[in-house]
Amino acid sequence: MSPLVRNNMTGRISKRGMLARALDVTGCGRMLRSTFVWDGVLTLNYHRIGDRHNSLLDRNLWSATDEDFDSQISTIAREFDVVGLNDLDSIIGKKHGRFVMVTFDDGYLDNYTNAFPILKAHGVTATFFITTGFLDIPKVPWWDEIAWMVRTSRESLLGDNRWTSNPVQFDEPDREGAINELLTLYKRLSGDLTDGFLDFLADALKTGRCPVQVARKLWMSWDMIREMKQTGMTFGGHTVNHPILANLSAEQQEAEIAPCKQRLVEELGGPIDAFSYPIGGAKSFNDDTRFLLAKHGFKWVFTYLGGYCRHNHTDRFALPRTAIETDVDLPMFRAIATLPQVFA
Ligand SMILES: [Zn+2]
Repeated sequence: MSPLVRNNMTGRISKRGMLARALDVTGCGRMLRSTFVWDGVLTLNYHRIGDRHNSLLDRNLWSATDEDFDSQISTIAREFDVVGLNDLDSIIGKKHGRFVMVTFDDGYLDNYTNAFPILKAHGVTATFFITTGFLDIPKVPWWDEIAWMVRTSRESLLGDNRWTSNPVQFDEPDREGAINELLTLYKRLSGDLTDGFLDFLADALKTGRCPVQVARKLWMSWDMIREMKQTGMTFGGHTVNHPILANLSAEQQEAEIAPCKQRLVEELGGPIDAFSYPIGGAKSFNDDTRFLLAKHGFKWVFTYLGGYCRHNHTDRFALPRTAIETDVDLPMFRAIATLPQVFA
């Protein structure tokens, strides 16, 4: 799902990474960018900006450092037509044109403190999909809470239990492998079981649940969001509590979609007509989700499926986005934007 440049386990650069570098150093990339080799909308997706080292939370959420984000935004501002949510009506389905859109999911505080000044400096607009419940009642989301429990635990493994098929050995010093294994398990659980799993981990790892103080420094405030809106940033929904919608009943899904929209409209005014699916993979939403989003007036809905929106793309409830993650270095970023047919 994400364009890996470097294999994290071996440290080796992948073939795609080498190809991306070759495009960069030979000047072929620049030449291709100056000609139209693709048409459509390439939507980039970010989560957090800043320094992930030493965080007790889920480090996979950091998309780029401040410096890398600045270079990326500078590149697209200089070489592409950067568009916003309000342009989609006129460009989706357009036969010619190479457009790039910048989006963020979840509503982390660093979107305001780190990303927003860089976006403003380059005159680039972005769309932020907000998990409204996290802003209203500060909460540590499940992926960050699992990482926090594993990293702060004094245990060295999760022994035999009814949730994992085998004991989970903690890989020191960062315990990334153990965290990823538990996150994968969580994503498969039905919505009714997820809280029980977190309680089990809190107990088994002897950490307790992650304290609420951590959540208080995690999210943007509505005032920050209003300030961003005044400079041209746009906002959409990302549910109330960030569940995997396909794991919920239709009734439970509606309770995540309708109040999310209502809070955004109350705080920002309307219209709010864009949404991104939490997690965003093919199994994270279903026909009920699509029906309910249409019922509540959403008309642009983004996945996390990778690729870009070609000019003949007609499904407004499954608009592809390409993940920008920490392992996307600048040559790979430029390759994604230059040849999304190959790299996105
Ligand atoms: Zn999300």
